[in-house]
Amino acid sequence: MFSHNKRLQYTVRVTETNPGLANLMLEQFGGPQGELAAACRYFTQALGEDDPGRKDMLYDISTEELSHLEIIGTIVAMLNKGAKGSLAEGVDEAAEMYRKIQGAGNDSHVTQVLYGGGPALVNSAGVPWTAGYIDTIGEPTADLRSNIAAEARAKIVYERLINLTDDPGVKEALGFLMTREIAHQKSFEKALYAIEPNFPPGKLPGDARFAGVYFNMSAGEGDVRGPWNQGDRWNFVESPQPCGPDGDGAAGEASVSLDAAEAPAVQAMAERTRSLRDGDPMTGAELGMSEQTAMEDIRQGLPDQDEA
Ligand code: MN
Ligand code: MN
Repeated sequence: MFSHNKRLQYTVRVTETNPGLANLMLEQFGGPQGELAAACRYFTQALGEDDPGRKDMLYDISTEELSHLEIIGTIVAMLNKGAKGSLAEGVDEAAEMYRKIQGAGNDSHVTQVLYGGGPALVNSAGVPWTAGYIDTIGEPTADLRSNIAAEARAKIVYERLINLTDDPGVKEALGFLMTREIAHQKSFEKALYAIEPNFPPGKLPGDARFAGVYFNMSAGEGDVRGPWNQGDRWNFVESPQPCGPDGDGAAGEASVSLDAAEAPAVQAMAERTRSLRDGDPMTGAELGMSEQTAMEDIRQGLPDQDEA
């Protein structure tokens, strides 16, 4: 059961109308790192969770995120309130109205014209909210890691929003919202470590031949060694080769057994679409070229292979 309390979780005191700033705040209302995404993420995880501790925590945090949605939505509404009234009542000259709703030069005029000041469930670029922002996989050790990262991202977006406003009331409310994401990150991380073992995620162990191997897959200047690829826990492979069931010297090839009906059809298709390796078919592009712009001349204009 949900029950609404008319008081906000944190008092919002906005100094003045600022539609441009309101538009940027929509990032945390209807954006991927925003409060609706967080609330839906943890609420749906709570519904599916059987562990009593995690279930309770997920309901607590998802309900708090709805309270945050109310705070950030209220900030948007307060920042837009004056401009919304002016636009609805048509009290300004057109040019003055446009200047007022466009604010800091972002898409805030769209928010005003399409949504009457909102708050609308879009991000700061006008992209509609989508359930695709939620990446729940239904395994707590994977979902808690994703929740930790989601809280880290939300914290960073709030930090950026704080850095671009000088409205003290907005700054203060954003500071509360940012701080709560830090607290949530701690709870999720503690909850992850309360599961033992929690790594690797799931039940199947990794293949022991590859679980402690670091493949140096990027050749050239700039190879760097650090704790992520050196020490007792790592086997650093300088020049990786294909691996497979045959172990060292694996051919790195792919194969599949086809049944009696499939094999001839696959062969027929291969014959029908076979490349001719000799000959030089004329292309439409070449027909449109003059003699001087033949491929040889284009090549001559390119830097030497050695210099490149
Ligand atoms: Mn939040
Ligand atoms: Mn949070």
